[in-house]
Amino acid sequence: MGREIGAAHEGETLMLHPGTEGKGIIPLGNIYTMTWQPANMWVNAHGNRFVDETVAFSFAHAGNTIGRQKGHYAWAIFDDAELQHAKNDGVDNGVGVLVPVMTKLKNIDSEIKNALAAKSESFKSATSIEQLAKAIDVPVANLKHAYDSYNLAATTHYDEAFNKDRMWTRPLNHGRLYAVKLMPYHFTSVGGLRINTQMSVVNTDDNPIKGLYAGGNDVGGIYSDTYTLWASGHAFGFATYSGRKAAQNALDYIKIGK
Ligand SMILES: Cc1cc2nc3c(=O)[nH]c(=O)nc-3n(C[C@H](O)[C@H](O)[C@H](O)COP(=O)(O)OP(=O)(O)OC[C@H]3O[C@@H](n4cnc5c(N)ncnc54)[C@H](O)[C@@H]3O)c2cc1C
Repeated sequence: MGREIGAAHEGETLMLHPGTEGKGIIPLGNIYTMTWQPANMWVNAHGNRFVDETVAFSFAHAGNTIGRQKGHYAWAIFDDAELQHAKNDGVDNGVGVLVPVMTKLKNIDSEIKNALAAKSESFKSATSIEQLAKAIDVPVANLKHAYDSYNLAATTHYDEAFNKDRMWTRPLNHGRLYAVKLMPYHFTSVGGLRINTQMSVVNTDDNPIKGLYAGGNDVGGIYSDTYTLWASGHAFGFATYSGRKAAQNALDYIKIGK
């Protein structure tokens, strides 16, 4: 309705999150949850690392960075030690509130068995990095370089490529290697009417449209394609403040008739 009377709008975009799907993979299951773990090594279709994988702690950033890779996908790589850790100690990163942090991945062995039996296009396992490169169809030399550099970083506690926190840079050389295809998924859409500091909706010249106010989710531009997970209550806080302010100003407008 605002747009019909000339209101400007802004911020229309999508927020994304990482995830996976494919044969043998259960939505929000144990394999799925492994894709959100910060100690994974991520490589793109070229077999190269492209980000500090602790970006997994901020799912919208993670979704964005995967979406910007060739083919809009990546691979999360981990080894048997990481599987044991997730099974026995619990996961380091939850999947939002749906799979809480420290959940023990009790079904991981059976899910892996099923995914491999189903010849999943999104889940691969190998006994060497060269074999894994073939399984996920990336250049062997690149993946080997990424892998060797990553293991060196885990040993020296310095990740020359991305300065990844040493706490989450663990060697990937215990037992088998696994790769899960990571893809970006829709989390939510954002955007709406453009307002000024008085919660007045403005036109495309930034002039207030008399008598029209907006707050909360009707307002665009509060976010872009990222989500400030580290500031809990930001959306609700804005909705509460802006809604009250918009209502007060609307009341003044009605009373005074300006
Ligand atoms: C699952 C989930 C989790 C969230 N978690 C967080 C969080 O942890 N922290 C945080 O800050 N924010 C969170 N948010 C976002 C936050 O809840 C919203 O940003 C906030 O509630 C928006 O408030 P609002 O008043 O703008 O809109 P809403 O709360 O959507 O209110 C709009 C109201 O308008 C009514 N309505 C719609 N059409 C009409 C009509 N034609 N006539 C009359 N009434 C109408 C609707 O019924 C509704 O009651 C979460 C949202 C969801 C969905």
